[in-house]
Amino acid sequence: MVGVFGGTFDPVHCGHLAVAQALMEALPLARMVFVPAARPPHRPPPSAAADHRLAMLRLAVGSDPRFVVDECEYEREGPSYMVDTLATLRTRYGAPLALVLGMDAFLGLPTWHRWRRVLGLAHVIIVKRPGWDVPLPAWVRPHVQERGELLLRADAGLAFILATTERPESATALRQALEEGSVPRAWLPPEIPPYIQSHGLYRRSAGHDEV
Ligand code: ATP
Repeated sequence: MVGVFGGTFDPVHCGHLAVAQALMEALPLARMVFVPAARPPHRPPPSAAADHRLAMLRLAVGSDPRFVVDECEYEREGPSYMVDTLATLRTRYGAPLALVLGMDAFLGLPTWHRWRRVLGLAHVIIVKRPGWDVPLPAWVRPHVQERGELLLRADAGLAFILATTERPESATALRQALEEGSVPRAWLPPEIPPYIQSHGLYRRSAGHDEV
């Protein structure tokens, strides 16, 4: 089974990496594939350009062979729909997929393009997040597995909830702090502040994403 960690990564933060590490321990995953969204369809355009977000993600993920950054959404035209990404990754990695979603992202899943098909292509891993302490939607409850290994019983359509220390990091809060001139180093992998600084990202005057 291969984990799929999609996101805008605007910028990548320590919460993303800690969740990925915790999932490698909690689930029978051969690897974790990080997929930066080229043109995210469900939210306002990112602040940093797609190439900067990708470069920062590559720096943060480093050389751990279990972690892969996949550019499949940069290889397509048009909106970066997860359903298309999962179809590509199923072929590319030849293994069942487990889509990682923070609780905020998971609650938005039913608004995604062809979301039922998403559940036909991958399991969902729901990660709790501070500020999102809400009951699980009724539709997912029958699919939730108590242990990670039980996901191996099917190719897709099951769910698992990561019960671990909740991580406070948020890219929105980071961007606000950076715009105001502070650098929240505790929330950022060490490679990221120098990159942000040398490319002048997240300043109040920085432009919007262009791919
Ligand atoms: P933004 O504030 O811009 O939405 P973000 O911090 O949520 O950014 P994304 O790149 O949008 O980061 O997130 C990618 C995925 O990681 C999403 O599924 C999101 O819910 C999840 N995620 C991000 N931060 C955390 C966190 N601190 N704990 C758990 N999940 C997280």
